[in-house]
Amino acid sequence: MRSYQVADFGAPLIETQAPTPAPKGVEVLLEVVAAGVCHSDLHIWEGGYDLGRGKRLSLKDRGIALPLTMGHETAGRVVALGPEARGVEIGKTYLVYPWIGCGQCAVCRRGDENLCSSPNCLGIHRNGGYADHILAPDPKYLVDLDGLDPIAMAPFACSGLTAYSALKKVSAGLSEAPLLIIGAGGLGLICLQILKGLGGKGVIVAEIDPVKRQAAARNGALAAIDPRAEDALAQLTAANGGPIMAAIDFVGSEETSSLAFNALGRGGKLVMVGLFGGAASWSLPLIPIKAASILGSYVGNLAELRELVDLVRAGKVAPLPVTRCALHDASKTLVDLRAGRFIGRAVLTPG
Ligand SMILES: [Zn+2]
Ligand SMILES: [Zn+2]
Repeated sequence: MRSYQVADFGAPLIETQAPTPAPKGVEVLLEVVAAGVCHSDLHIWEGGYDLGRGKRLSLKDRGIALPLTMGHETAGRVVALGPEARGVEIGKTYLVYPWIGCGQCAVCRRGDENLCSSPNCLGIHRNGGYADHILAPDPKYLVDLDGLDPIAMAPFACSGLTAYSALKKVSAGLSEAPLLIIGAGGLGLICLQILKGLGGKGVIVAEIDPVKRQAAARNGALAAIDPRAEDALAQLTAANGGPIMAAIDFVGSEETSSLAFNALGRGGKLVMVGLFGGAASWSLPLIPIKAASILGSYVGNLAELRELVDLVRAGKVAPLPVTRCALHDASKTLVDLRAGRFIGRAVLTPG
């Protein structure tokens, strides 16, 4: 089996060859058809996050062991089942749910493995999809992609799911008032698509890159404004016809979170998703005065992924256009992603 691994944080990925594993117990071996390249892979590759005020979250200190095959947006064809694996078929294509927890704690038992404090995620804590094969620990993590394009579906395991779970947190009221989305990269565009499918009123986008603002407009945004414009806040309020009641920040910088917070009306909700980094600059008394809710959203749970795939299958959510890149160009693809060269998502395909 051929894999592209992080051997040193920040260094180019290395190609490794190893025997293809034989699935044990309930494990399932899949041949990788598509592996999405996610923005969070850049943080894993670089080894951490900027927490602001000179602090840094080091992934090495958080137990991320190298070498690691990244890739948590994987679609694959089942090629072998462990002796106790049931419920999936050899030859069929599945999306692999990567946000796996300990499976034992109360959080995992209520179905939120993505929030487990002992995470064991594919492509982060154990080997993921930047390879020609991937081992899924249990058939229950495989979502049937029958009739769907696995290459277009791969990014739904992280970016699609993240957008969907964030949207669900502000779903009350989205049919009456527009939603503010900050950042029109892959996540922002998927969010636009999903909101359309859910029958939302529409989206106002704040995005610094004019090319991405155009992409947002083409995808049906009601307005796309430049958050660095001096009158950005006034433009947002004008486009919305009043203060914003729901916002999702897919960037997560000091600049974007403060714009979103300032745009919120009384009782408004801000969902923080992006991990750009920094520290919050908003004034504390305004949180109670506005009765604002500030929520974090981290990927989504397995049930949400199944709901989302069903929405795509029902034709309510269109998969995004993706750029196909060869698996052996994994390092170059990461560099291009860091440079902001993709509209939508990049997906590695072996072969
Ligand atoms: Zn991701
Ligand atoms: Zn757990």
